[in-house]
Amino acid sequence: MSQVQRMSRLMVKTLRDDPADAETISHKLLVRAGYVRRNAAGVWTWLPLGKKVLDNVSAVVREEMDAIGAQEVLLPALLPREPYEASGRWEEYGELLFRLKDRKGADYLLGPTHEEIFTQTVKDQCVSYKDLPVMLYQIQTKYRDEARPRSGVLRGREFQMKDSYSFDITDEGLAESYALHRAAYQRIFTRLGLDHRIVSAVSGAMGGSASEEFLAPAAAGEDTFVDCPACGYAANTEAVTFPADRAEPADASSVGPMEELDTPDTPTIESLARQLDVPASATLKNLLVKVDGEIVAVGVPGDREVDLGKLGEHLAPAVVELVTAEDFAGRPDLVRGYVGPQGLAKVRYIADPRVAPGTAWVTGANKPDTHARDVVCGRDFEVDDYLDVVVVEEGDPCPSCGAGLRLGRAIEIGHIFQLGRKYADTFQLDVLGPQGKPVRVTMGSYGIGVSRAVAALAEQTADAKGLCWPAEVAPADVHVVAAGKAAQIELALDAAERLRAAGLRVLVDDRAGVSPGVKFTDAELIGVPRILIVGRRAAEGVVELKDRRSGESEELPLTDAVAKLTA
Ligand code: ATP
Ligand code: MG
Repeated sequence: MSQVQRMSRLMVKTLRDDPADAETISHKLLVRAGYVRRNAAGVWTWLPLGKKVLDNVSAVVREEMDAIGAQEVLLPALLPREPYEASGRWEEYGELLFRLKDRKGADYLLGPTHEEIFTQTVKDQCVSYKDLPVMLYQIQTKYRDEARPRSGVLRGREFQMKDSYSFDITDEGLAESYALHRAAYQRIFTRLGLDHRIVSAVSGAMGGSASEEFLAPAAAGEDTFVDCPACGYAANTEAVTFPADRAEPADASSVGPMEELDTPDTPTIESLARQLDVPASATLKNLLVKVDGEIVAVGVPGDREVDLGKLGEHLAPAVVELVTAEDFAGRPDLVRGYVGPQGLAKVRYIADPRVAPGTAWVTGANKPDTHARDVVCGRDFEVDDYLDVVVVEEGDPCPSCGAGLRLGRAIEIGHIFQLGRKYADTFQLDVLGPQGKPVRVTMGSYGIGVSRAVAALAEQTADAKGLCWPAEVAPADVHVVAAGKAAQIELALDAAERLRAAGLRVLVDDRAGVSPGVKFTDAELIGVPRILIVGRRAAEGVVELKDRRSGESEELPLTDAVAKLTA
């Protein structure tokens, strides 16, 4: 059973002001409340309160990993070059990898993730199909020389990760190991009190459930995602794809013939729309790209942006590049800034489904300083291929139910991935199969950002007064505050001891000579879920019990408060 933690002996120095360089809530509050201390960019010390929260998160992760039958190991963080050379990642990681030499000049690295070493471990330890499936995990310090190690512990260069790896002999086995991890992750994040969404990490085109991310919605997040308030659909923005057959034909019978307009000084969609007094959505923007070297035009409504990542995925393995000035040389049919599909006989035309048959547009007239109006799809130009290539926006229809999508930012807290045989091939990881022949093993890899989860929780739960931890991860269950004189400190310590004896983790503010105001402010900043104030009416045996989140409080006899807290 844990000891009562006295504030008078706890190494915690709270700060009234935000650190100068801090932008995110978690960075500001974890520093101000004395949970972490910065040593260098992206390198952090976990102080006593912070270490408790970090350990509480690890404990939940550990319990749920053990529950699915994964076995905990601890591999080194200091690793030899050779296995990463073999997998190609010594080079591929580029500047992200911390590389170093030992005294003999041999190359080493600080592990950013451990697929290679786990593969070697299993090759060494498992010889027969009877030794599989096996799932291994570790909670360990990882190193990545991140380009922008900002946001405190959200993106560290040294950070805590739970990484696990599954080894199976069949694809069905891998799917099962993946499903076990997926369910364990849901339990972990729910227990931690993290609001989270599961999104497929790549678009459906590249194979759906083979890789999913767990996102924690928060303004400080670096990922953008959409979710549907009606049906619960969620996806990374670049993974949202609408069926291309969504193009709904319009009736163009009353649209007059195409007409050219003199439009000097209209280099942008905005200036064009203003001059012609039409909404940007009535104009047709045509982006030229090169697909394996051949020029292709992509048409989208003027108020939308082309998502080059999506376009690239649609056209893969072809390589998509932007056109350069040289590409216009010798192409009088391509007038830079004034391209219209009606003049692109020799160019493949890809369009967003909103450019549907029968829709009429204002677009380039393929002449300098000239646009054309009433340019009708199907009458004045043809679309070769409809593809969903626009950047998704708030209110766009949900691909699964059609309701308006919400757009938000989120923190990636976990990632699960069906690797297949990539690393098993590199290291020739085979086991003896049921028929006595070697069988190649198939793998999954699964990560949780343990230290990042602490910051994500702070982001999601903090309020104007400070941190506000969910019970499962809080550094204590109760924060007892002795509001005043020696007698109250005695009573507070006595109450703390009774709560401890009943099985609670207790922090007690027994500091002499610190004003009640400062103690209350500190308690709110530190964010333990329940605050027990031993104050004015302590002599009568009456205390105040306060809920940190709701701020609701009640006065009641100490015995009742203890009963309530331990119920
Ligand atoms: P990100 O896109 O945020 O850089 P990643 O795709 O590089 O993440 P993975 O390699 O899948 O992340 O690592 C597994 C988990 O480790 C991530 O889901 C994340 O929660 C955590 N993580 C990754 N990089 C960092 C970091 N620099 N600091 C803290 N946690 C991290
Ligand atoms: Mg990364």
